[in-house]
Amino acid sequence: MPIRTLIKSQPKANFTDIRPLGKDAKNMAADIHRYFNYTLGRDKYCKSAHYTYNALALAVRDRLMEGWKKTHYAYRGESPRQTFYLSMEFLMGRTLGNAMLNLGLEEPIHKALHKFGLDLEELAEVEHDAGLGNGGLGRLAACFIDSCATLQLPVIGYGLRYEYGMFRQRIDNGYQAEEPDHWLRAGNVWELERPELTVRVHFYGHTETYADHAHHRRLRWVETQDVLVVPYDIPVPGYRNDTVNTLRLWKTVATDEFDLNEFNAGDYAGSVAGKNSAENISMVLYPNDASECGKELRLRQQYVLASASLQDVVRKWVIRHGHGEDFTHFAEQNCFQLNDTHPSIAVAELMRILMDEHLLSWDAAWKITTSTMAYTNHTLLPEALEKWSVGLMRYLLPRLMEIIFEINARFLAEVAQNWPGDSERLARMSLIEEDGDQKVRMAYLAIVGSYSVNGVAELHSNLLKQGLFKDFYELWPDKFNNKTNGITPRRWLGGCNPKLAELITANIGDGWTHDLTELKKLAPLVDDAAFRERWRTVKRVNKQRLLETIHASFETVDAASGASARSSSGEWEDSGSLGLHLTVGVDAMFDVQVKRIHEYKRQLLNVLHVIHLYDRIKHGEIANWTPRLVLFGGKAAPGYAMAKKIIKLINNVAHIVNHDPATAGLLSVVFLPNYRVSAMEVIAAAADLSEQISTAGKEASGTGNMKFMMNGALTMGTLDGANIEILEEVGGDNFFLFGLTAQQVEKLRPHYDPRHIIADDDDFSRVMHLLESSYFNQFEPGIFDDIINVIKSPKDPWMTAADFPAYVQAQRHAAEAFLDVDRWTQMSILNCAASGKFSSDRTIAEYNRDIWKLTPVKPVGDQEI
Ligand SMILES: *Cc1c(COP(=O)(O)O)cnc(C)c1O
Repeated sequence: MPIRTLIKSQPKANFTDIRPLGKDAKNMAADIHRYFNYTLGRDKYCKSAHYTYNALALAVRDRLMEGWKKTHYAYRGESPRQTFYLSMEFLMGRTLGNAMLNLGLEEPIHKALHKFGLDLEELAEVEHDAGLGNGGLGRLAACFIDSCATLQLPVIGYGLRYEYGMFRQRIDNGYQAEEPDHWLRAGNVWELERPELTVRVHFYGHTETYADHAHHRRLRWVETQDVLVVPYDIPVPGYRNDTVNTLRLWKTVATDEFDLNEFNAGDYAGSVAGKNSAENISMVLYPNDASECGKELRLRQQYVLASASLQDVVRKWVIRHGHGEDFTHFAEQNCFQLNDTHPSIAVAELMRILMDEHLLSWDAAWKITTSTMAYTNHTLLPEALEKWSVGLMRYLLPRLMEIIFEINARFLAEVAQNWPGDSERLARMSLIEEDGDQKVRMAYLAIVGSYSVNGVAELHSNLLKQGLFKDFYELWPDKFNNKTNGITPRRWLGGCNPKLAELITANIGDGWTHDLTELKKLAPLVDDAAFRERWRTVKRVNKQRLLETIHASFETVDAASGASARSSSGEWEDSGSLGLHLTVGVDAMFDVQVKRIHEYKRQLLNVLHVIHLYDRIKHGEIANWTPRLVLFGGKAAPGYAMAKKIIKLINNVAHIVNHDPATAGLLSVVFLPNYRVSAMEVIAAAADLSEQISTAGKEASGTGNMKFMMNGALTMGTLDGANIEILEEVGGDNFFLFGLTAQQVEKLRPHYDPRHIIADDDDFSRVMHLLESSYFNQFEPGIFDDIINVIKSPKDPWMTAADFPAYVQAQRHAAEAFLDVDRWTQMSILNCAASGKFSSDRTIAEYNRDIWKLTPVKPVGDQEI
């Protein structure tokens, strides 16, 4: 029985006309009032802000519905070519503020809430971040769907609705501790369940041949164990344009079919337990950034995403266009963008659906697949490229494994034709890695099955062509292209920095909200002293707000132990062992590194510099000192021991530095727990200096670097990822550049001699001496030995020591520059002015121009079709 018939179809109804809801303060207030008192049934004794938040969110959601329907009607009516953005992660953060901004509801809601004596900022804080991603890759997907809606492109995001998102991070005695993030516990008003669109996904079983009605030999996948997958739709509003696109997230549930054998054998409990394992597939997000865990459950998640999404698209096709099984124009109308290798099983799954379910020939199916799939690579780190063991695949997805073998056989024949006799090349390019346990190279499957392969910054795309994917580039040079990442200026400027947005608009108009390159009109204002003063005031207010956020996050931690208290002078102090103790304020340079904790991102290099600053203070070298607040934030993968050790080191250094009276007013160090999107919104607006100090050639692009630049921070950076393009846009006078290039890194690697570098550099020797004398771990002997060893190891892949002397130099320049307040402000303005390129609107326009080729679609009203 088709699943759709499980839901009774609606009787012919004519109640679907809707009239626009009032967007003025009065109407908003009436709706908020009605939701609170009637829909949610609360009364004057209700103390929980949760209900007030929900009442407000429902009122805003109603105003999204109209555009959502009009957008849907336009897509139904015009049947435009569409793109489906497949991503295992969508790091959305909070929705309320963004929806209000994009709908232009901020003014009326402020007024409406004022009437009730409510504060919007406080209410917005009630919303739990949707943390369905690890870091940059997931946040990129979120920025992209925002830009697609703003550009009115018919793009649907497909992802998984994890019950538990990215873990919550606590810091316990300086160590990271992970807590589950049950983000749905308090409900999610932004999603609509669509049970009528449930699909079925197969696992296990085996394949068999049969003859179809035309006596063709065919294959089918039988005796499978299935799960049902239910979509939840989330509205994605464009910026003040009526378009509301859809993010569709899949949740797995058990089928209603019990295992009858078990049931009859009396194992009712056992057959119900089977239901549990099915529900588990979309239970939890894997918290590994830039590495794959290789777990069976992860492969199941990937297959659920690919299979459910493709089935959804193909079903729509059959209903609307195909009149059955005509796929002649399918590839003209549909495009799938794979966000990294994670969903690349989609290549084989589309083949399966077309051949096994719609009886297309191999050649016809392959032609469609390879003209609809496009693949974005996100990393050069080999540990991030998943390889699934052939054994596991054959067991879990037997039909898919057969298809992959067939794809490989035909592909290798093509390679052999191009390079006769080059067996080494065949082995290198094979989708199956043969040494030891056979493994499927999923990235290669993605390349072979796609018509476009792109990297995410110029350097990264070039390194892909020269290194990781060299053989494939030689075979198909035209497939390869670059799409430098971007970020949405709605969330990352207008939303997170309303005061700066207001100042910008007051001076250059609001054209920048539609074309971010208009920010360059700010450049001449660097000579306007009054403008510079206003610019500084905004930054100062934002820095104050960040200080409050920092204090609040430590207060909740310390509240339990009763450690923190505000002294009579208004200074914050603590009596707890690792609590917060800051001695610098808004006048200090806010020097920030927030991102996932990973060795290649080199938080370690930053800590070494902090130790160096401390060492200088201890030696009395404090003439013309620039006070600093060094802020760290970020999560380590729970199984990544070295990254967790680095968090511990940061916290121990912070403790010693902050409590040493010698540093008072000169240097404070903070590790802000639980870094996430909503935290970044406060941090990006407040930073002076943005630390982008990865080993050159390792950070594919970075997007945190762009958020900081857009909000007027200066970059302290290596020539890596999009830093290179940031430098190009803003110019060397407004950027603190240091360190080896990607080429120099690889050239040095065989002769790398960190002990020599340390011995040759007095500052460095002193830093290492402090570390090695257990200065920061007096009562915790040996805990930093691994870190010390890796710094001194000639095999350190991240070559931290190589860049230390240059880093210290560049930091000295930055500190000096900060003392010239006017010059710093000018550089800050110029960074914002030059950040236009890094709008994800530009990135998406390029994806569309080169890969998707979609036509923008205007939403239409009911009556217009
Ligand atoms: C932007 C962002 C990232 C990516 O930061 P990078 O510095 O590019 O690694 C990660 N996490 C969150 C919460 C972000 O907002």
